[in-house]
Amino acid sequence: MSGPAVTEATTALDAGLVGCRTCTLPSRLGTGRCPRCGARLVSRDDTSLQRVWAWWWAGLLLYVPANIYPMLLTAQLGRKVEATIVGGVWELVELGSVGIAAIVFFASVMIPVGKFVAIAYLALIVRNDHRQNPGRLLHLYEVVEFIGRWSMIDVFVVAILAALVQFDLLATINPGIAAFCFALSVIFTMLSAMSFDSRAIWDRIERDA
Ligand SMILES: [Zn+2]
Repeated sequence: MSGPAVTEATTALDAGLVGCRTCTLPSRLGTGRCPRCGARLVSRDDTSLQRVWAWWWAGLLLYVPANIYPMLLTAQLGRKVEATIVGGVWELVELGSVGIAAIVFFASVMIPVGKFVAIAYLALIVRNDHRQNPGRLLHLYEVVEFIGRWSMIDVFVVAILAALVQFDLLATINPGIAAFCFALSVIFTMLSAMSFDSRAIWDRIERDA
């Protein structure tokens, strides 16, 4: 992805404009509300990173109990086994359901951890003078935001698969503290990504140029 040369980039801020984040209509700087849709206009959100980190930590803190407490309760031949998310994945592999194990692992470990890493990377890098390609950073943000929009799929996949598993393997999902923490963690991570002001990606570049 190669955008226009960094030195030639002109932001709305340079041009004395502020873009509406709801309907994208540009207005003159200092306009309080968007004349088209009425949304509040802010050129740069100063509290963005504080909110990003607050939700990020809340999401991370809840992701810990989501993995420590049992999520899956399997019953085989009268033997009841409680398993955490990762333990459940192993359990599924041992039972021969490698495909289901892979999907559960992807939805409940790879995606959440990937989101934590990507959001932290973006929030840290925009605070410093970075030489990263802003187009690439924006692309990363868009991926995280896109995943965020579908984040509840993590929860749904686990719930639906638990139902499938229940059918096949006589295992049940344990709607306990782990599932609750996992759902909250997903919501908080989503709020963290939404709090990020992606326009910050371009600002440090301007100063370097
Ligand atoms: Zn608007």
